[in-house]
Amino acid sequence: MCLAALALLSGCTPGDRHLTRHEFSHLAMGVRVNAVVYASDERRARESVAAAFAEISRLDELLSDYRPQSQLSLVNARAGQGFGLGITEIDPAFAVVLRESLIVAERTEGAFDPSVGPIVQLWRSARKQQRLPDPGAVATAAACVGWRDIILGGAPERLTLSLRKPGMKLDPGAFVKGYAARRAVEILRDRGLDHALISIAGDISCSLPPPGQRGWRVAASHGGGSADRSFSLLLSDQSVSTAGDTEQFIEIDGERYSHIVDPRTGLGLTNRAAATVVSRNATIADALDTALCVAGLDRFEAIMAKFPGCEARLEALDARGAMMCKETPGFRLLVEPDRLP
Ligand code: ADP
Ligand code: MG
Repeated sequence: MCLAALALLSGCTPGDRHLTRHEFSHLAMGVRVNAVVYASDERRARESVAAAFAEISRLDELLSDYRPQSQLSLVNARAGQGFGLGITEIDPAFAVVLRESLIVAERTEGAFDPSVGPIVQLWRSARKQQRLPDPGAVATAAACVGWRDIILGGAPERLTLSLRKPGMKLDPGAFVKGYAARRAVEILRDRGLDHALISIAGDISCSLPPPGQRGWRVAASHGGGSADRSFSLLLSDQSVSTAGDTEQFIEIDGERYSHIVDPRTGLGLTNRAAATVVSRNATIADALDTALCVAGLDRFEAIMAKFPGCEARLEALDARGAMMCKETPGFRLLVEPDRLP
């Protein structure tokens, strides 16, 4: 999905006049990470951003499902092994991001489910082979999914995690990038850089706007960049996440399946959904856009009522196959007036 921070000219307030714009990029989590910061000098900007990027890489090492040695892979490998063997001591960041993810799982009744790994793996190989997964394999994978069987425990100085069912697998794909972007912004803030923006693919977190500006202008697109489905948001101290099937999907027998799956059916979405969520909490934004795609237009209002303070826009096919759009009332206030979708 497409989110991009647009270049801005800064009209500075007197106190911030000494701040200049600096941009950096970094590879992590299989994508390009971009940082824009305003700092008094280039060295300060570079050192602070290096610390922020180091934290993103650390989270990648901890929470990647592609790295067999990550804590997340270790937890997955021990799924269903019961008390003792099945329990893994985890980093506090792992506990925080999972706890926040579980809030979204609960409030969306599992439309977003961080334990969707077995189904996602099937669809990843389906995409490679250009063939739909076997229905029996889909049913077996779906039976291994269930956020209620994720057990977070232990004491603050020794946090633990276990997965109750054999074959369960956490999938960080829909929650880790948001959390990592927010952590990076927090690190910059701790170092005194209050005007910063971090983007990790479709997840963006920002602190205060560029000096003299009302917000960070972030371009979002729900339709592969077509003008009628692109818009710009003006954000300050917020996170935004976009999800959908624009970039990652498979097409088999004329049907387009998203890389986002419905945890209950085990199938890739075919409703062409794309969602954008703005929230103060980046993990919630990241997980919730995925959930909205799964839940579809009918459940949009009911779900968003459970997330006060979050704004969202969802486009998807309705029951008759027409592309429709729903937004929370506050979403429109974030869209740049000259760029209403
Ligand atoms: P995008 O990759 O388009 O930014 P997401 O943030 O929704 O979109 O992340 C999609 C990834 O999330 C998938 O590649 C997969 O790893 C994982 N995923 C797919 N479906 C679900 C789901 N229903 N709940 C949780 N994670 C999911
Ligand atoms: Mg997401």
